[in-house]
Amino acid sequence: MTISDLHKSYGDVEVLKGISLTVAPGEVVCLVGPSGSGKSTLLRCINVLETANSGLIDVGGFIATDPDIDLDVMRRHVGMVFQAFNLFPHMTAIENCSIAQRKVLGRSQSAADEVSRASLEKVGLGHLADRYPDQLSGGQQQRVAIARALSMEPSLMLFDEPTSALDPETVGDVLDVMRNLADEGMTMIVVTHEMHFAREVADKVVFMDGGVVVEEGPAAEVIGNPQHERTKSFLARVL
Ligand code: ADP
Ligand code: MG
Repeated sequence: MTISDLHKSYGDVEVLKGISLTVAPGEVVCLVGPSGSGKSTLLRCINVLETANSGLIDVGGFIATDPDIDLDVMRRHVGMVFQAFNLFPHMTAIENCSIAQRKVLGRSQSAADEVSRASLEKVGLGHLADRYPDQLSGGQQQRVAIARALSMEPSLMLFDEPTSALDPETVGDVLDVMRNLADEGMTMIVVTHEMHFAREVADKVVFMDGGVVVEEGPAAEVIGNPQHERTKSFLARVL
């Protein structure tokens, strides 16, 4: 996945000021930085929930910045997990996982459910497939949201602060699922303040501030030995 010189403005305010970033297949990149630095906007541009003003985003040959991009094709290849899980409240876990497979991929109910079951097993929730979201803990709901994204068989997974809204006791299960995905070779971009996770799992840490990449490199270097003042002061606040 390659991003080059990406610019995004809201009205007169430029929030991404020329972002360039490469993520190799199977690589895990943790994106860190203060609130308002443009992390969510960057992920939303990759998933075409926002339209960039200029620059290029290439996800395995799918050009997200192409104005004629087929959104269904693009979103099939890029899974996204949000801070707020956004599950359909009137659907069970397995129905939440199957709906997009049926609508977007045209899978039959039984084919979709089979994939959904495998995805729910993968996140450790095979036994809760028939529960509704309000019968699940926050961490379990977030794991359903991950299973839902995986059910589309994406080539890239984006996580936007997936554990920020969770009770502390359920954070670990979600991080474990993400760690397993990383170990299986999933390509991932993770916006997180979990520096322990970043240090352990990320191949690369990217520090953003004010709409630019200030510093990037191996996790141990960026977290353990940051070079820029802005990185140092940010890490001093979150570590
Ligand atoms: P982060 O995720 O790093 O906290 P965001 O990408 O959410 O940062 O926001 C970057 C900047 O863009 C912030 O100043 C925010 O207020 C602004 N912004 C985000 N979304 C919108 C929007 N839909 N309209 C106008 N401004 C926005
Ligand atoms: Mg954000």
